[in-house]
Amino acid sequence: MSNVLGRFLGHRDVFARFLNALSKGQLHHAWLLHGPSGIGKATLGFEMARAYLCEKNRHSPPAHEACGTCHVCHMMAAGSHPDFLQVEREWDEKKKRLKRDVHVGQTRDLLSFLSLSGSQSERKVVLVREAGQMNAQAANALLKGLEEPAPGSLLILACEDTMSVPVTVRSRCLLQALAPLGDDECRSILCDMGLDGEVLEFAVKLADGQPGKASPLTDADVADALLDWERLTRDMSRADIGHLQGWISRHVRQIPHALLVDVVLNQLEGVMQENGNFHAFDTLMAVAHDLAAWPVEVARRTLNPASTLLAHMLSLRIALRAFENTLGSR
Ligand SMILES: [Zn+2]
Repeated sequence: MSNVLGRFLGHRDVFARFLNALSKGQLHHAWLLHGPSGIGKATLGFEMARAYLCEKNRHSPPAHEACGTCHVCHMMAAGSHPDFLQVEREWDEKKKRLKRDVHVGQTRDLLSFLSLSGSQSERKVVLVREAGQMNAQAANALLKGLEEPAPGSLLILACEDTMSVPVTVRSRCLLQALAPLGDDECRSILCDMGLDGEVLEFAVKLADGQPGKASPLTDADVADALLDWERLTRDMSRADIGHLQGWISRHVRQIPHALLVDVVLNQLEGVMQENGNFHAFDTLMAVAHDLAAWPVEVARRTLNPASTLLAHMLSLRIALRAFENTLGSR
């Protein structure tokens, strides 16, 4: 079972708390898991659902992690358990992107799902992976289910920021904070995802405690391109613009924008510690700040990613050169 445990390593204390409450028959009917993106909130929620539904935990305490071998565990692995429902934003076929919100129709569906008695047992679970994306109507509808929970029902909500969930919903849930992971835990999870060698160490640094952030590196093409990008931007003030331009035109549409920005910002950390001219430092910070905002700007204003990224990289090279020159003059 070590591969299963590895998937939420780092939140063992929270999972133990869940199992303890389940053993004592004191399980809260609604959990709100909150913390930064990519740390495994939904993964932990899924493990909680598996443990709750597993046949081995149905009768005699103490409760354990899901056995992985019973009929229920097989159905969960196949994504076909009739008493388990996951809710996230729907795909908008017309706009070819995820809808902006989890909408009220989805909340009503999940409430009627929870109100029916389970087909395998008395237990039913709903996992709302993007609870922070519920619009006001959806959250309002959810209140009813929280006030009058159906027997045997378990609702698990996951969100980054508790403030994105209305206080009326929040106050009826058991709030459970999840923290970013340490590098060793992060490495072990990324290793479980199949990363090794140079890519693994690169991913650990990039993840910075949030392994989900580095999960695109499990695609070997993405990993190769990002390692290339890391080499090209390592000595940014002397970076070859032709090479940068070539890389950008080949890869910018396939590589998650936030990741390629993180690679560049990580490279700047050392320079930022240097004690240079204040004005030049200020300019460099402003340029880095604009670059950090670029992924959101591209999405929001539908900018051309290649030309705008290249412009940011040129500004960065100029600002870095100016700053480094002030170091040399000391
Ligand atoms: Zn089982």
